[in-house]
Amino acid sequence: MPSSIKTREVIVSQYSDIISRNGLGPADISGGTIAVHTPIDGALIAEVHETSPDQMVEVIAAANEAFRAWRTVPPPVRGELVRLLGEELRAAKEALGALVSLEAGKIVSEGLGEVQEMIDICDFAVGLSRQLYGLTIASERPGHRMMETWHPLGVAGVISAFNFPVAVWSWNTALALVCGDAVIWKPSEKTPLTALACQKILQKAMARFGDAPKALHQVVIGGAEVGEALVTSPDVALISATGSTRMGKAVAPKVAGRFGKLILELGGNNAMIVGPTADLDLAVRAITFSAIGTCGQRCTSLRRVIAHESIKDELVGRLVKAYATAPIGNPLDAGTLVGPLIDQAARDRMQNAIARAAKSGGTVHGGEPVNDAVAGGAYVRPAIVEMPGQTDVVREETFAPILYVMTYDALDEAIAMQNDVPQGLSSCIFTNDVREAETFVSALGSDCGIANVNIGPSGAEIGGAFGGEKETGGGRESGADAWRGYMRRQTNTINYSRELPLAQGVKFDI
Ligand code: NAD
Repeated sequence: MPSSIKTREVIVSQYSDIISRNGLGPADISGGTIAVHTPIDGALIAEVHETSPDQMVEVIAAANEAFRAWRTVPPPVRGELVRLLGEELRAAKEALGALVSLEAGKIVSEGLGEVQEMIDICDFAVGLSRQLYGLTIASERPGHRMMETWHPLGVAGVISAFNFPVAVWSWNTALALVCGDAVIWKPSEKTPLTALACQKILQKAMARFGDAPKALHQVVIGGAEVGEALVTSPDVALISATGSTRMGKAVAPKVAGRFGKLILELGGNNAMIVGPTADLDLAVRAITFSAIGTCGQRCTSLRRVIAHESIKDELVGRLVKAYATAPIGNPLDAGTLVGPLIDQAARDRMQNAIARAAKSGGTVHGGEPVNDAVAGGAYVRPAIVEMPGQTDVVREETFAPILYVMTYDALDEAIAMQNDVPQGLSSCIFTNDVREAETFVSALGSDCGIANVNIGPSGAEIGGAFGGEKETGGGRESGADAWRGYMRRQTNTINYSRELPLAQGVKFDI
């Protein structure tokens, strides 16, 4: 029976094993007003309960109470909770990875990879829990010492996007917990089940830990309005928001208006420069993974190739061939490399962008809807579009597998083109010329938060600061000093003398 005419009961039972293996029962997945559809075939898989405005008031109050208790727990002890979370995630890896595939449409390997990234940040945060260092500073005054101390900040409101439904939460939460903060998480309304599953995993770790405050971590469900309740509350000390630049533009002025702290991780428009000496075998592999992996729905997905004129035709020819071999279909099936877009609206936006590119002189390879992959899902053939220049549509982030290819003659021209977009997340160069490589990562090179050599723009590792400049929002997560964003810094001057000298030689004798 084609899935488009399946009854709801049949559909639910088809996926119920993945859902129930994550500990989600009828109370979690039925009777609510937010309908959750799997991108695999568009089937309704849950109706979850939205958090009401009254509940938001209670949630924020409870989080602040939990924070007041948690901040008194020594950081290495807080690290023990995160260590236990890492253990629980190891045990849950396969089940949670499958739920990521079901809810976000990622292929099995990428769903598992996302959970592995959660485990990695837990390990990283456990180490950090013993390294929340402040400086001691030389004082100009005799018998004085200066130092800086890092204190827990308060309640962290985490707003996340559909495409990394669990990893982004863990980047924030593992660090926030060791830093002594309480967390309220508002996941994307498109992926609430993975959030509810993570809450259950954390609760297991909390039960083993023993006496963590109950409201240390809460999940709130809903769309922009629920996010806005966090964004506008003076009792949410930090907003860490991941999503589109459009969302960031709405959120940033509201948080700034109340002098809240803000970490923004927004859209990208990531490019690869392919130089005349590049290893094209490597470049082709890097381009295919980063442009069509996750069906082009990573913030770091490759969207632009800026190829040297001497190798452009060969590169495009090889890419067209490589694209033709990529299996498109059900992300749960072994062998699939390109799963679905998140929904039909995303497919419409992709078709619209390709039409605009063609109208402004682009030559399109692929890009058409694939209707026979799995009925009800928004499957597409990834597109390569050779462009005469960097037109308006190329300068926008279309969250789909469209790769625009442009050419250049001199490296300066390529770098200028790479930087000439509003976003500044990730970038890379493929070259075997050390001068080109060093120029690209120098102050004269890429203006992005991430700039790689001979490796694609996507697939970040824990430990490197992640984030970007310009319309990407300026935030950094999961890097060596990312923890500072979740704490408040205090400068202490200690006088152990019997005098009271003033700084800068000021006299005030009374
Ligand atoms: P989105 O902007 O539609 O939604 C992201 C989150 O913001 C959701 O939880 C949504 O409910 C919430 N939201 C939207 N408007 C809001 C408002 N006014 N106030 C408070 N909350 C609001 O993004 P999406 O479609 O879920 O995700 C795709 C986008 O996210 C892409 O642009 C992608 O590049 C970006 N992204 C960036 C990163 C990064 O680290 N830079 C990571 C993942 C995704």
